[in-house]
Formats: sequence, C-alpha cells, structure tokens
Amino acid sequence: FSVGQRVVAANSAPCGVCYYCRREQENLCEDLLFNNGAYAEYIRIPERIVNKNMYEVPEHVSYQDAALVEPLACVLRGLEECGVRAGDTVAVIGLGPIGMMFVRLAKAVYNARVIAIGRRPTQLDRAARMGADQMVINSEGADIVEPVRGMTGGRGADVVIEAVGLPELWQLAIQLLRRGGVVNFFGGCPSDTHVSLDTNLLHYSELTCKASFHHSPALIRKALDIISRGFVTAKDFVNRVEPLTNLLEVMKHLMSHNGHLKTAIIP
Ligand SMILES: [Zn+2]
Repeated sequence: FSVGQRVVAANSAPCGVCYYCRREQENLCEDLLFNNGAYAEYIRIPERIVNKNMYEVPEHVSYQDAALVEPLACVLRGLEECGVRAGDTVAVIGLGPIGMMFVRLAKAVYNARVIAIGRRPTQLDRAARMGADQMVINSEGADIVEPVRGMTGGRGADVVIEAVGLPELWQLAIQLLRRGGVVNFFGGCPSDTHVSLDTNLLHYSELTCKASFHHSPALIRKALDIISRGFVTAKDFVNRVEPLTNLLEVMKHLMSHNGHLKTAIIP
C-alpha cells in the first residue's frame, strides 16, 4: 500500500490459526478481530486487517460502491451456503437492503429464478428492477405459501432466504421449501426468541436448515470483484447522502422508520 491510494478495509480479520480458521470457517474464528464503526474523517485500521482484509479500490469503482463489500460478502456467503445452482428458484423473504442484495446476486451472479416476498408494493417494484422474476406481497394476514407453491409447480422453492429476522418468518420460510430444499435463516432474530418447527416436515421432506453469519477475506475479495464488474452498484442501494455532522440525526431517523435503503455518510 502507498500514501494516497484508495482502499477498502473489511470490518474484521480472522486469526488464521485457530480450530475454525484451519477448517475454512474463518467467519467463526475464535479470535476474530473486529473494527466496527468508521464514522470519522480518518481511521486507524488494525494491522491484522491491513494484512489480511484490506484492498485497493479499482479506479472505476467509487467509494460508495466499494463501501458495499461487507454486506455483500455476507450475502454471498448466504447463497454459497445454500448451494444455489443456475435455474434454481430462490425465494427471498424481506426486501430491505440485505434482501435486495440477495435478489440482485441470486439473479445476476447465480442465474437463479427469484421470487421476492415483501410487505410494501414499493419494495416489490424495486425488487423487480433488481431482477426478481415474480413478486408476492406479504401483507397482514396474507397467505404466501399457496402463491409460492403455485409459482413452483406445487413443489415449493429450491432455496428460501429469510432476510428479516423474525421467528414467525423463520417458521414460515420452511413452509415455502420443496422437498430436499435448503432454507437460510439469514436474518438474526432478537435474543431469547425461539422457533417451533414441524419435525415430520423437516425429516420426511429432508429439509436443510442453514443460518449463515458474517464473511471471510475470500468473500470480501469476491464481493469487490462483483462490484468492480458492475453487478452491484451503490445507485441501487444508497438512497440518501448525508454529511458526517448529521450522523446522529440519521441514526435516530433509521431507528424510528422502516423501509429505508442505505444512507451514505460523507466525512
Ligand atoms: Zn481463527
């Protein structure tokens, strides 16, 4: 690295020597070094992250585009863990920024057929622009199992992604799967919550449940490559730009309002 170079640093770096790192589960590293929170004009990146998880930003990639690598790497891991293949039907529940990234990557990178499931018509419109093939509105009391089965020859989806983080949606997610399908409980639920799953359905339909977390340096590199090839751009995910001085106000607003995409904070 050199002075003046444009770089993007991940928010963590694994140790590389622990039980998990040696088994290529670096996201579960026993000594994962985090460096969260970069709302500043300058930041000191820990040495381990510089060595293992910091990259030059290609000339044609903007800072806003590059800033998407971290969530994108998590989403990539979510899809890899499900073994998505071209032509698979992937149903995505929840169309916030993360759900939208699932829609975009499943379509553009994995060539899957995507069913987007969200609560607001505006989200469904956005999902369609991101490449979703079919949309299902999950309004209060609506049945989404039948529509999804109807779109999949009565079988259910090959892969279902829960990208909200609500126990009732985790439970709903497995009902959308085909026999032998894979669900990813991607959205983290509030602590001390539990889910109840139909044991017969899990066993006799041979369902696979995944709950992927975080990312690895290899996935950060892959995410940056996907961004540099133009599959994902900040234009699709950042709908607000604010100066650093407005940070507190932005945070308060995000906590009290739903349905936002991402806000770029410019130092
Ligand atoms: Zn480790």
